[in-house]
Amino acid sequence: MIDDPNDPSLRSFIDVDPTSPFPIQNLPFGVFVTRHGQRIGVAIGDWVLDLREIAKAGLFKLPPFRDDFVAQAWDLGEIIIWNPALWPEIRRRVSELLRHDTPTLRDNAELRARAIVPQGEVTMVMPVHIPNYTDFYSSREHATNVGIMMRGPENALMPNWLHLPVAYHGRASSIVASGTDIQRPHGQTKADDAEAPTFGPSRSLDFELELGMLIGQGNPLGQPITTAKAADHVFGMVLVNDWSARDVQKWEYQPLGPFLAKNFATSISPWVITLDALEPFKIAGPKQDPEPLPYLRCVGDHSYDIHLEVWLQTAKMTEPVRISATNSKYLYWNICQQIAHHTSNGCNLQTGDLLASGTISGPTPDSLGSMLRSEEHTSELQSLRHFVC
Ligand code: CA
Repeated sequence: MIDDPNDPSLRSFIDVDPTSPFPIQNLPFGVFVTRHGQRIGVAIGDWVLDLREIAKAGLFKLPPFRDDFVAQAWDLGEIIIWNPALWPEIRRRVSELLRHDTPTLRDNAELRARAIVPQGEVTMVMPVHIPNYTDFYSSREHATNVGIMMRGPENALMPNWLHLPVAYHGRASSIVASGTDIQRPHGQTKADDAEAPTFGPSRSLDFELELGMLIGQGNPLGQPITTAKAADHVFGMVLVNDWSARDVQKWEYQPLGPFLAKNFATSISPWVITLDALEPFKIAGPKQDPEPLPYLRCVGDHSYDIHLEVWLQTAKMTEPVRISATNSKYLYWNICQQIAHHTSNGCNLQTGDLLASGTISGPTPDSLGSMLRSEEHTSELQSLRHFVC
């Protein structure tokens, strides 16, 4: 039997549409709610595999008592705090159980009815409690675009940018699972030609397309994580939309950076794709010149070739429009460098921490990771203002 859950030849006994983001080679983890309560699951095609039912049936065959833990878990934090060596074991076992040639679940109609739930019948919720949120600024294209707007092309990148992964601490309490309604924030703004600021609803609500990593095991305070060990601390990746009120941000950001322009909401995908599932998508990152200081140097490839798109549909639009297509391979600083830098002063990461990449922009005008103006789109979209700051 094939032992590699990423093997492209694997097939499930569950019908999976070829265009589904959840083939048997992915198997992302999430937390869902049904009338039976909240539990952890794995996505396969249009279905959710209920890991509680699998664990109750004793099918994981994990080390002593671990099946009991899975059977009682209602949050991924209870799983990812374990020894990272166990994470791929769970995914490997799920892969094995879902294969077309494994009869255990396939031929057990009663268990199948309990353990395989249509995604349309569940509500996805936050996959884990997130104690801390850090937002990097690691896309050179995005930082350059912003810099040109703020300081002109000659000084687009700040002097530190090519030497360290710039970041700020965000707000964890307002991170929500994708699909949660976001209320347009009120805030203080001041138009360039106005004499005094006013308070009211933001008129420049923007998105920021990002990837985020969720930390599995943290590090003790005072003990940095090296680039070589960094990936061991990452459970998986989520999509991130770092909602931003540009008019509020423009007025408030100096000298300490964004505050109320960012902390009203950040959406993440409810499904967490493990680093193991992303292994086939690893590639070399952009060439780093100047060479980073020794504590930021990495061996091997740590960037990911992940195609990313932004689609917009307003209440007045009859169908969504794709307004951006970009790729995480454009990120200049990789996740190992971000973790090594974040902890280089001894700062302690905690289980469930979210470390986001920063807006991911590509080199072309149609690959910007935050809102852009386009003559091709509807009149409503044309009226949306473009701030990237
Ligand atoms: Ca951001």
